[in-house]
Amino acid sequence: MATSRNWLFVTLHTEDGRIGVGEGSGWPRVVRAAVEDLRCLLVGEDAGQIERITQRIRVATMGHGQTGVVASGALAAIDTALWDLKAQSLGVPIFELLGGLTRDAVHYYTHASSPETALEAVSRGVRGIKVGGIKDVVERAYAIRAAVGDDVDLMVDLHGPPWLSAADAIAIGRALEPLNLLFLEEPVAPDDLAGWRRVRDKVALPLAGGERFGTLADMLPFMTEGLLDVVQPDTGRFGGLTQMRKLAGMAEAHGIQVAPHSGSLGPVAEFAAVHLLASIPNALALERLEPDWSQREEVLTSRLQSSGGRIEIPRSPGLGTGVNTEFVQRYPSQQNVAIATGAFNPGTEQETPYLQPRRPRAGITRTGLE
Ligand SMILES: [Mg+2]
Repeated sequence: MATSRNWLFVTLHTEDGRIGVGEGSGWPRVVRAAVEDLRCLLVGEDAGQIERITQRIRVATMGHGQTGVVASGALAAIDTALWDLKAQSLGVPIFELLGGLTRDAVHYYTHASSPETALEAVSRGVRGIKVGGIKDVVERAYAIRAAVGDDVDLMVDLHGPPWLSAADAIAIGRALEPLNLLFLEEPVAPDDLAGWRRVRDKVALPLAGGERFGTLADMLPFMTEGLLDVVQPDTGRFGGLTQMRKLAGMAEAHGIQVAPHSGSLGPVAEFAAVHLLASIPNALALERLEPDWSQREEVLTSRLQSSGGRIEIPRSPGLGTGVNTEFVQRYPSQQNVAIATGAFNPGTEQETPYLQPRRPRAGITRTGLE
């Protein structure tokens, strides 16, 4: 895989020969070490006692401090594999254990950076397009809206970088208000709660966020203070289906919809997200990179089917897929750092964040940026 994206898959094996599979994100190379450490809590245990095992894992990681998405990534991989095993043992798809179906298929949306790429996605039936970054984002969003028309949902993700001030996020948000966005995502960094409150107060757009969080407690103030309209747990680093279904319940109580994050995730986590979205009442849509790495689906023993912007719900027992181990082993992890993508203004990602100008204006704030 590329150095900025790594996929980590975990398999759990039972004495009677079943294999459960899960995926962990949240810095996968570190999560891999965490999973290996947690192995001793799993060997010899009853795989059917999912909640008990996940609580033991949470307690076992307490001594490391607030481990965030690393511990929650390890937990996600293990927990998803446990749900897969349990559903297999009962001969039903996972969504049946989550309460059954609330819909016949799951909507997804994808990304576009230009009117051309947006139109290409729409031509494949996609009904939701997300524009990312800050550089020229207002202009790009208007151009894409003009190209795709009003019948396609449009979203903007500012990615909440640490150097983006609430003042600038408010200015961008207000400029986007006429576009009738489905949501504005991460207008400021998720740990800038004060900034988020200011954006909420000043921008008349639905707000989305949560992809960088790992626990229910992380999400709590955003819900109780009414700071979110759409919550976006990352299926690989939010503790697995056990935690995600609880989050969905919390979101339901606060009138919030669920749209799992999938920016860097692999195809196993996508299966888990589809089971969740298929069963909860407040599902919005799944994020999906499309097109992704050309051999993405080779990872799996069976694939999700989609058309018209909707993903079919897998009906075979368990998660509904497995990992092609021989194929995965051909692509060992090399490194795991993100390189600037061009979505931000030059200079804003490369040097000391808090000394960077937020948005280039003129004179001083342009120095060294051109
Ligand atoms: Mg995002």
